[in-house]
Amino acid sequence: MAHEDIFKKLVSHCKEYGYVFPSSEIYDGLAAVYDYGQYGVELKNNIKKYWWDSMVLMHDNIVGLDSAIFMHPTIWKASGHVDAFNDPLIDNKDSKKRYRADVLIEEHLEKFSEKIDREVEKAKARFGEKFDEALYRSTNPRILEIQEKYDLLHKKFIDAMAGPDLAAIRQIIIDSEIVCPVSGTRNWTEVRQFNLMFSTEIGATSDGAMKIYLRPETAQGIFVNFLNVQKTGRMKLPFGIAQIGKAFRNEIVARQFIFRMREFEQMEMQFFVKPGTELEWFRQWKEARMKWHRALGFGDENYRFHDHDKLAHYANAASDIEYKFPFGFKEVEGIHSRTDFDLKQHQEYSGKKMQYFDPEKNESYIPYVIETSIGVDRMFLQVMAASYYEEDLTREDGVPDSRVVLRLPSVLAPVKLAVLPLVRKDTLPEISRRISDELKFDFNCQYDEKDSIGKRYRRQDAIGTPYCITIDYQSVDDETVTIRYRDTMLQERVPISRLRAIIADKVSLREQLKKL
Ligand code: ATP
Repeated sequence: MAHEDIFKKLVSHCKEYGYVFPSSEIYDGLAAVYDYGQYGVELKNNIKKYWWDSMVLMHDNIVGLDSAIFMHPTIWKASGHVDAFNDPLIDNKDSKKRYRADVLIEEHLEKFSEKIDREVEKAKARFGEKFDEALYRSTNPRILEIQEKYDLLHKKFIDAMAGPDLAAIRQIIIDSEIVCPVSGTRNWTEVRQFNLMFSTEIGATSDGAMKIYLRPETAQGIFVNFLNVQKTGRMKLPFGIAQIGKAFRNEIVARQFIFRMREFEQMEMQFFVKPGTELEWFRQWKEARMKWHRALGFGDENYRFHDHDKLAHYANAASDIEYKFPFGFKEVEGIHSRTDFDLKQHQEYSGKKMQYFDPEKNESYIPYVIETSIGVDRMFLQVMAASYYEEDLTREDGVPDSRVVLRLPSVLAPVKLAVLPLVRKDTLPEISRRISDELKFDFNCQYDEKDSIGKRYRRQDAIGTPYCITIDYQSVDDETVTIRYRDTMLQERVPISRLRAIIADKVSLREQLKKL
């Protein structure tokens, strides 16, 4: 099935099974804003717990923070967001559709890489086992020609964005003959800058209300509290502050479901280090974060780093962790070496010292910062995209059958187990109730007695429940039940008395954290 079709199905699955709903749906929705349903909220909480514990619980030099969304407006002046948190936008005059000019060019550049990959695939098929991919990529004239075109255009793009030179950005779109995906024409407007921050007013308008912003990142709340935390927690460098919270960006193009939202949630950690050690810490955090992703078991080959060659004004190194979504490799998390830019700016704008006194050196200085920044919602989408499978279960005798299954990692699954009496009579429901009443203290349990057992299994597969406990007539006699495993559909007979220990072991966050 085409990747786009799979993605469409995933989006409707999220809605049909209570994971994600469009916001304000009865009023036809609100673009790029979404609500999380009964299972969505559980999955989201489990993702947040996995992140929080991996940071705060697992490191004695990382502590948490929960700063307010509203902050003094000068913070956003100091951080550079008022002047520079812009995206270049362009409209197609025929379709009246609006695009991010940089994204149009990036997607065009991606086509060069795809062309090269296709050439390599063809050669692989031709040469068979003897094929040396690295050699082919570095010597084949056709590939070198495509690579040269790519490098040339890429350099132009980086230079134009660095300015930013809006006319040059537009010229690249014209010269590359990029067409609007909707109208198919090249009838483009000028490129304009668009600030992504939402603003509102605080206080009554009559007596001088103040314009304030909804935070576009959680990081600044950490920077302005840096000394509060350092002093009250008696923290010594290196140390980190972690925060999970809402962020808001007036994104120009709202596409790809919860990949790019206007209201979303971030999990950010700022790690304060001695100047001069930041690149070593940057390397270590890149590795640690990649490990966190891969430990979920979705296949190492589906992740890659994308090191930035165009650095933000505050950074001296930056890299994204990208995942292979149905629509290609895309950023899930950013790791940035932010130098001392933010603290220095806040020191200048607030007039308050933002320095750390180093007892070893007996001197004060502004620390450098490594940041790890991941979107909860984007991580949610990554987990869902990696877990969604449509399986053909046509039997040997030809009777057609199929199922949709969410192969969510047990540690993240919203419902850990379903308790299902085989039939609704002869004390089976009572035994089942007894089991679920006992297990619900430890796990998110569901009791279900409606419909045939096969239908109930399918319902649990569709929401990603990893274990189904079935109570049958044998249970009445010998106090045993079956556990059905979601992924293999195999069943195993176990004593009721051991259920809690068996499930606890399989869904344990502790075991997951030990992998890191
Ligand atoms: P992009 O290039 O995709 O716009 P960015 O580089 O601006 O993202 P950062 O500012 O580094 O993103 O934000 C860190 C993380 O926050 C991203 O890796 C992503 O997971 C998440 N994120 C950023 N913008 C959005 C958004 N509009 N909707 C959902 N998640 C977002």
